[in-house]
Amino acid sequence: MRLVLLGAPGAGKGTQAVVISEKLDIPHISTGDIFRSHIRSGTELGLKAKQYIDEGKLVPDELTIEIVKNRIAQDDCCRGFILDGFPRTIPQADYLEEALGELGKELDCVLNLHVPDEEIIRRLSGRRVCPHCGASYHILYKPTKTEGVCDVCGNKTVQRDDDREETVLKRLNAYHEQTEPLIRYYEKKGKLVTVVGRERVEDTSAAVLQALGVK
Ligand code: AMP
Repeated sequence: MRLVLLGAPGAGKGTQAVVISEKLDIPHISTGDIFRSHIRSGTELGLKAKQYIDEGKLVPDELTIEIVKNRIAQDDCCRGFILDGFPRTIPQADYLEEALGELGKELDCVLNLHVPDEEIIRRLSGRRVCPHCGASYHILYKPTKTEGVCDVCGNKTVQRDDDREETVLKRLNAYHEQTEPLIRYYEKKGKLVTVVGRERVEDTSAAVLQALGVK
């Protein structure tokens, strides 16, 4: 299955992508994770992307498109993939269609995870992540067993710089202005399925798997 997860930052795309990826055994591709790994390794792309990410802005299309093009052409994507956080603009969506067309493929489905803005702000301000293994937590909804320590690998959890409140508001703004138009874009193409993100992760996962027709 070739799937795109659409939704505001903090809607739970990453969490649901992990569930779907395990269930269908297809790779989870997060452009945000790819940028963060470039930032950690100090690459040229990482340095460029960081300026935008820290300000809550989208990284320019020309930098983003290239990494996705290379990634979806890799062998492990031949049975499908889950794109989490890409496309985020209409030009990126046009580009994706073209790149898949060149490989003789097309998207099967675009899953829109809907969560109201007030809930997004609550979720992001409480989110903590493990910079070592990427696991994601929430201080109220999904706390670590020991405060501040990753359950998976035992490293210290941190708040992402771009999860601070002033940056969250800018990211939400970027979502409404640049990404939300993709809902209509994919609706017109007959590929959109919307699922409302619930409070409990398991409830959302059940709704997501049902919407995708996955048992
Ligand atoms: P995420 O982890 O998906 O919330 O992404 C973190 C940040 O990376 C975003 O706020 C953007 O600055 C940048 N980013 C991730 N994916 C994209 C994309 N498709 N287009 C532009 N910027 C992106």
